[in-house]
Amino acid sequence: MNEDAAAGVTRILAEAGFHDHQWVRPSELVISQWVRVKCMFGCPDYGRNASCPPHVPSVPECRELLREYSRALLIHLPCKVPPDGRRQWCLENQERLVEVERRVFLSGFEKAFLLSFDNCNLCDECVSEPSDCRFPYKRRPTMEAFAIDVYSSVKKYGYTLSVKKNRLEEPDRFALLLVE
Ligand code: SF4
Repeated sequence: MNEDAAAGVTRILAEAGFHDHQWVRPSELVISQWVRVKCMFGCPDYGRNASCPPHVPSVPECRELLREYSRALLIHLPCKVPPDGRRQWCLENQERLVEVERRVFLSGFEKAFLLSFDNCNLCDECVSEPSDCRFPYKRRPTMEAFAIDVYSSVKKYGYTLSVKKNRLEEPDRFALLLVE
């Protein structure tokens, strides 16, 4: 990708209101089996959200997918709203990021694919089965669903991400837009 093309992609992000992002090499991101195990044991969305494990590729397949891209945009979404506003915040940002992916795709990057920052919550209650999804064109998995160790990965790019101890602490969210 030349620099003009890269600038075109970041312009689309900026127009959607996302200003904190940087280009990364997907092969440098950390993929770990423990991330999948955390999905399987301890997350109430496991098997219940149609965009979450087990409705995703295996961990080796996720690793292989990232190898098929030479560039991606790591997008930082600091969440500055109180706990009772976070669902709406997630919903709006998911919609905006999916629209960014669509615009990047239409600008000539046929492989554009979004790994989102939060479990799909476009519906009040997920149908669980991917084949029943109400918005299949907008359904996207998270970075974590693709076994990316977000903590270790974002540190490589200068971000600090720590475990939040209670819901009052403002979460930092990250999404990854694979572009090629
Ligand atoms: S769009 Fe709705 S049904 Fe589909 S994965 Fe998201 S929450 Fe579930």
